[in-house]
Amino acid sequence: MGRSEQLFEQAVKVLPGGVNSPVRAYRAVGMAPRFITRAEGPFLWDEDGEKYIDYVCSWGPMILGHNHPVVREAVEKAVKDGLSFGAPTRREVEIAQLMVELVPNIEMVRMVNSGTEAVMSAVRLARGATGRDKIIKFEGCYHGHSDCLLVNAGSSALAGGHPSSAGVPEDIVKHTLTAQFNDLSSVEALLDAWPGQVACVIVEPVAANMGVVGPAPGFLEGLRKLCDKSGALLIFDEVITGFRLALGGAQAYFGVKADLVTFGKIIGGGMPVGAYCGSRALMEQVAPCGPVYQAGTLSGNPVAMAAGLAQLTYLKDHPELYDDIAAKAAWLAGRLRKAAEAAGVPVAVNQIGSLLSPFFTPTEVTAFVDAKGSDVGRYAKYFQGMLRHGVALAPAQFEAMFVSAAHTQAELEATARAADAVFAAL
Ligand SMILES: *Cc1c(COP(=O)(O)O)cnc(C)c1O
Repeated sequence: MGRSEQLFEQAVKVLPGGVNSPVRAYRAVGMAPRFITRAEGPFLWDEDGEKYIDYVCSWGPMILGHNHPVVREAVEKAVKDGLSFGAPTRREVEIAQLMVELVPNIEMVRMVNSGTEAVMSAVRLARGATGRDKIIKFEGCYHGHSDCLLVNAGSSALAGGHPSSAGVPEDIVKHTLTAQFNDLSSVEALLDAWPGQVACVIVEPVAANMGVVGPAPGFLEGLRKLCDKSGALLIFDEVITGFRLALGGAQAYFGVKADLVTFGKIIGGGMPVGAYCGSRALMEQVAPCGPVYQAGTLSGNPVAMAAGLAQLTYLKDHPELYDDIAAKAAWLAGRLRKAAEAAGVPVAVNQIGSLLSPFFTPTEVTAFVDAKGSDVGRYAKYFQGMLRHGVALAPAQFEAMFVSAAHTQAELEATARAADAVFAAL
């Protein structure tokens, strides 16, 4: 038994499922998870000393690759001055100024500690600002684990086979209405059924928690129009797409404006950070300016802000990086298609920017129902094979592959060769 297996045996005794976040338990791929000791650039090392090319990238934050010196040094410097003050600091202002500069259509930022918290707070703000209770989300989109959003959710809520969670009262989720991604008529029908009662439509502008599914042409524009007509606010959950699709996120990439935008993952540079943002008029509804209460003991933590500020500043200074990571992802998507075709395995590979994912299905994947058609047993075999070849993928079908600036052509080619061998043996 390897050291990861040994540790996992101990872990399951003291941590539910041996983990602190369900997808890490590798249940969807039927094996014990690898325990990681170290990461650098595009690589991970596990407790047994095995090295992997990593396409999880901590689920997105590591857009520059692991342990990037600019981020690490900013953290080391910040730590010397103390870990937390519970008081305002200069870096909070600087990162908010930078976000307002880079992201279209936002004037103010509130920092929180996770993507879950960001989205939960944005929904509260939308309800407070509109005086309405209902919200519309999309089946297969994931917005963190707060009660009202754990309805027909994606990510590991999906892989686990429970579309929503125990412990979430019906009384709360009765206000959550579910529409179909890339289907405007499903949104229109809900808005018509609940006239004047929908506070917000929340969407992942690129769905990346059902595997990767991009918005159909006109879908985001159509949501904007429907929201304008109904008085609902449009929330882009950019916890994945923010600072990844483009410096300005999905609003910049697709040219569609949202009323509120949520961030997480990349803005923390690997530290626990989230944020929600919008116009001054909306954001000044939040305490202490307005009646929507939201607070956080560690919000805007100085070490976390140092990491985020260093990463965002680096991205701003290297905008060419976006075309580069998108080109790498496109190359890899092409090679995965070729490998699958040569092996006669029906696979649809979706790619947008530096996000991609293969689905084990003969059809195109443009909607949640298509994604769900993927053969997850085959994904598990593919995952196991790739891991044996030194490639660490998301341990579940309904997640994205993340390409970072640290992945070079050498790693991409090694990944493609591994895929040739693995698909041939499926
Ligand atoms: C990861 C994610 C969240 C939740 O963020 P946490 O930091 O895990 O709480 C919310 N929305 C989207 C789109 C995500 O991918």
